[in-house]
Amino acid sequence: MEQINVPEIYGSMVFNDKVMKERLPKDVYKAVRKTIDNGTTLELTVANTVAATMKEWAIERGATHFTHWFQPMTGLTAEKHDSFINPDEKGNIIMNFSGKELVKGEPDASSFPSGGIRATFEARGYTAWDPSSPAFVKDGSLYIPTAFCSYTGESLDKKTPLLRSMDALNHEAVHMLHFLGKPDVKHVDTTIGSEQEYFLIDKDMYLSRKDLVLTGRTLFGAPAPKGQEMEDHYFGVLKPRVSEFMHDLDQELWKLGVPAKTKHNEVAPAQHELAPVFEMSNIAVDHNQLTMEIMKKVADRHNMACLLHEKPFDGVNGSGKHVNWSMGTDTGENLLEPGTTPAENTQFLVFLVAVIAAVDKYADLMRASVATAGNDHRLGANEAPPAVVSIFVGDELAQILDAIEKGQTPEDAKHTLMDIGAKVLPTLTKDTTDRNRTSPFAFTGNKFEFRMPGSSVSVADPAIILNTAVADSLREIRKSLEGTPKDQLETAIMAHLQALLKEHHKILFNGNGYAEDWVEKAEARGLYNLKSVPDAMPAFIAEKNVALFEKFHIYNASEIQARYEINLENYAKAIHIESLTMQDMIKKDVRSALVSYSSDLADEALAKKELSKDIDTDMETELVDELAKDGSGITSGLKKLAKDTKTAEGETDSLKKARYYHDVILQDMADVRSYIDAAEAEIPSDYLNYPTYEEMMFSLR
Ligand code: ADP
Ligand code: MG
Repeated sequence: MEQINVPEIYGSMVFNDKVMKERLPKDVYKAVRKTIDNGTTLELTVANTVAATMKEWAIERGATHFTHWFQPMTGLTAEKHDSFINPDEKGNIIMNFSGKELVKGEPDASSFPSGGIRATFEARGYTAWDPSSPAFVKDGSLYIPTAFCSYTGESLDKKTPLLRSMDALNHEAVHMLHFLGKPDVKHVDTTIGSEQEYFLIDKDMYLSRKDLVLTGRTLFGAPAPKGQEMEDHYFGVLKPRVSEFMHDLDQELWKLGVPAKTKHNEVAPAQHELAPVFEMSNIAVDHNQLTMEIMKKVADRHNMACLLHEKPFDGVNGSGKHVNWSMGTDTGENLLEPGTTPAENTQFLVFLVAVIAAVDKYADLMRASVATAGNDHRLGANEAPPAVVSIFVGDELAQILDAIEKGQTPEDAKHTLMDIGAKVLPTLTKDTTDRNRTSPFAFTGNKFEFRMPGSSVSVADPAIILNTAVADSLREIRKSLEGTPKDQLETAIMAHLQALLKEHHKILFNGNGYAEDWVEKAEARGLYNLKSVPDAMPAFIAEKNVALFEKFHIYNASEIQARYEINLENYAKAIHIESLTMQDMIKKDVRSALVSYSSDLADEALAKKELSKDIDTDMETELVDELAKDGSGITSGLKKLAKDTKTAEGETDSLKKARYYHDVILQDMADVRSYIDAAEAEIPSDYLNYPTYEEMMFSLR
């Protein structure tokens, strides 16, 4: 294999700090740094210099265009490209890029979902440069990460509320650290590392399945004789085509400064995972969007399709995105790292309990932040964490928290594990904290891992909720302690943590999240069990949650309403498209296979009888009968699905509509599917004009 100079290619297409330092005049560099670090606005003259330097740098890397890259509420990314060219009167071309063009753009925003924020006659929105996420060159364009807002200042995207939530957490965490005696800390960032799962299948097969192309998942398909029961795929040897893909993918990502770190096969056949090194949340969110996009592109180049849907195949595991989350200071400290001194322990416990309280109080919002039609197939489906949010902290930490909750004195606590605050926490090894794979929110040594997000969602949504909810807990803790004399602070903190643990300990659960009786027990504890999008979305507009968003200026009332409406609409639309696609495939693909195989069987039986009346044709006639039964099930199911889908189209209330799609349409689809799958199991594959589960999941070499 050819040698690759990773340090040379890493970030080679990124206008990062190193490039800025090298290329910008010293004072301009300083001004940009200040803007990035403190959020100050950039003067136009400075912006002009930055823009000109960026343009030169981008042109050297093959760019002819620039684009403001943003993340509308679709959950995808959007871009519109303008070339640098500027013709003069003499017919010459100058390549131009001004500071104004860098900092602000005006895409025609009328076709992006706004959830009613913008009246349609006022379709304008603008994009604003986000200097905290570096610009990069890709496919001949300079990409400038931007936030997307309406002219009245409302956010129309996912980046703006994310940045607001990071500010809220920064503010509260820094305050808390000052309070706890760390005046040096100036900034706290939330950090994110998102493990991304995906499937790879052959491109030709992908293209011959209308359901995969149009909806991202297979709407029917008889199970392959082999699934994931042998557990031979997880961490298994990479097939050559997959390995070449991953090799290529890593390099593409490295060029863009995405720190792709680990890659391996996942549990389901044809399923894989990529994990990056964690980064500051805003950049991590942008990089995860880029990762998903580049995965698809590189797969295509390798004659494969990368499936990012949460449930491409029934009967084997779906794909998630584990969001690892922590908080880090500008002085290099991870606030969820258990300490080695008493003071560090107190600080660790404060931040830990703040997260526990936040997740309990806003568990419904956490669930709503990952509510999509695709993810509904995973949550609670015995493969991914249940729809119930709970927290795993491991046995050792659980005992410590229990001791605090009981208000045990250092003496009492001796035989449990520690002596709170006065001595040190036992070293929490990764081994003791990372064993429960069934928990939706697990403490894994020095960070939390949120395992509910689906593989295709934007990491921004769960990050916004976590940042804001934890900011709220930290503020509440600090307020309750304000005015406490220094010598009583330690005791007051422990008393407050005790109260918080009493109130929120119901969220702690170290058992098996997949166990049948857990759902019942969880409900008895008073935990939310929000099974579907229509169950979860009302949480988004619940009074306590609106109050949280408004308190920290994450969303105002109309921004909240917009997101609520858009998410419900997206859900209904996704299932609507699935229904239409299923109907179409039944008419064009399933029925024709059924008819030609049945008629061949009948012909065969007839031919045999013509040879001799005594020849047994039981096999043919029985099969024809069976297929006829499946066929009539399919026919009546199709009729019902078509009729109910018409009814769904007529519903105007977004929540009622979503509920109808969930209760009626999904059920109709499952009913027809059972007949299709039964028939497919009997029909030889050369009668089918689409690939089977077995072919899709087991044919890559
Ligand atoms: P695994 O979960 O497979 O055992 P790791 O725990 O090493 O693997 O890391 C999983 C992910 O968590 C990686 O993307 C890693 O960068 C990320 N991660 C590690 N530390 C932090 C942190 N402090 N904040 C956010 N993410 C982190
Ligand atoms: Mg992990």
